[in-house]
Amino acid sequence: MILLQRKLHLEIHPGTNPKPFDTEIIDIKNDSLIFSKSYCFPRGGGQPGDIGIVSSKIHESELLETFHQEFIMHPVKDPDLFNIGDHISCSINTEVRNRNSMMHTTQHIVSALADELFNAETVGNQISQNHTRLDLLFADRDKFNISDLESAFNEVLHKNSSVKIHEWDRNTILNHENMRNTKFMNRIPESIKKLRVVEIEDIDLCPCGGTHVESIGILNKLKVLNVKSKGAGKLRITY
Ligand SMILES: [Zn+2]
Repeated sequence: MILLQRKLHLEIHPGTNPKPFDTEIIDIKNDSLIFSKSYCFPRGGGQPGDIGIVSSKIHESELLETFHQEFIMHPVKDPDLFNIGDHISCSINTEVRNRNSMMHTTQHIVSALADELFNAETVGNQISQNHTRLDLLFADRDKFNISDLESAFNEVLHKNSSVKIHEWDRNTILNHENMRNTKFMNRIPESIKKLRVVEIEDIDLCPCGGTHVESIGILNKLKVLNVKSKGAGKLRITY
């Protein structure tokens, strides 16, 4: 049997306030339901997966953190309540999604500014409930300065730049002079010809499958909480 699943979170922008959606269970693996279509964001790129509620006509179960294997996997607390072929409704927890979209969009800006101000490359990041940690690799990490980063970020918010989504082919992406963060592209199968590119006007441009806000004016100001060394040329910034 060949299963096909539509991964719709990539087609929806902005990624805030996702609506409940109806779908069908096409398979169940361990504790995870696989839907014919899903708007859920599966954890990846440092962004946590969506959580929420899955309900059939008679049952309801908590949706735990969505993740990705061959398909988007929807682990639920009570998988025994569901069967293949069930028509269900899925409600994504909008409060958590909105916060993750804000945190993730913030990370784009911080990474772009770290590159511009300190010539630092983002080599890792992880968003959690209340803070994000970002690993930066510097040619000269003595150049890093918290207040320069914070004031540049807070200045940029006043622009209220729009966040835009593009579908571009690999050559366009790799040859674009302003493109950031293309190293991971060689891990994406060659069969995928076009990739999603996220543009924050005048600030950042990079391939990304995460969820973002519509314009950056709604983001909170940046407050760096901690900076620690992660070995030669590297700093871990928590904000
Ligand atoms: Zn992104």
